[in-house]
Amino acid sequence: MWRYAQLNAAADFIENSLSRAGLHPRRDSYELQGQACHNIEAEIRGASPQIVLIGAHYDSVFGAPGANDNGSGVAALLALARRFAGRSTSCTLRFVAFVNEEPPYFQTKQMGSFFYAGRCKARGDQIAAMISLETIGYFSDTPRSQTYPIPAIGAFYPRTGNFIGFVSNLHSRALLRRAIALFREQGKLPSEGAALPSFIPGVAWSDQWSFWEHGYPGIMITDTAPFRYPHYHSATDTPDKLDYDRFALVVSGMQKVIEELDKSL
Ligand SMILES: [Zn+2]
Repeated sequence: MWRYAQLNAAADFIENSLSRAGLHPRRDSYELQGQACHNIEAEIRGASPQIVLIGAHYDSVFGAPGANDNGSGVAALLALARRFAGRSTSCTLRFVAFVNEEPPYFQTKQMGSFFYAGRCKARGDQIAAMISLETIGYFSDTPRSQTYPIPAIGAFYPRTGNFIGFVSNLHSRALLRRAIALFREQGKLPSEGAALPSFIPGVAWSDQWSFWEHGYPGIMITDTAPFRYPHYHSATDTPDKLDYDRFALVVSGMQKVIEELDKSL
């Protein structure tokens, strides 16, 4: 909101990208401190009322260009929307770019995704799966490049940051297990999954939190951000830091996950 013109330029870019893919994006707007803020959504209507929602926040934290957090998530969102555009699906697929995920709105009712999830709840939308694409482009093969919020978790997981993470609260563990099993069937990239109590630091640190607050199941796909990425929330979070080969494997892997979820929900 301190770079309001740039924030809206990002919204315009996302909207145009979705339009160019042949989709019909819609703005889901609300007002904050007297200024309009916009989530951008595009829907592929399926035969069933069940919704698979893929989301990524498009704001960055103050002072950070946000290439990985969360340019990577938005790029993946747009790529996935493009791949599904024009297809017929059994579930309804929704691709949503969320505004205002970062502080000072982080985990407050002012988050774009919180407004959005609240409106879904009020309409009775049947969201069977919310997938939050959150900082997914950084990988490292250096030993001890991966850290964890608490040592008890680190004891069970790899110390090298070369995998993609699937994270959820306990309520969403069935969805988490299903999604990671589908991802692993492809054998494209190492992956690790954890369904944990949402009070553990990191577990609720993105838009999936807003959906959990409204009773919907949701998972976060992430390279674990501050627990791996040295440029997290800093001025050096620039595009040269991303690992585009492995990032692309995350996207193609998630495409398959969404295709299979669509068939089975
Ligand atoms: Zn983020």
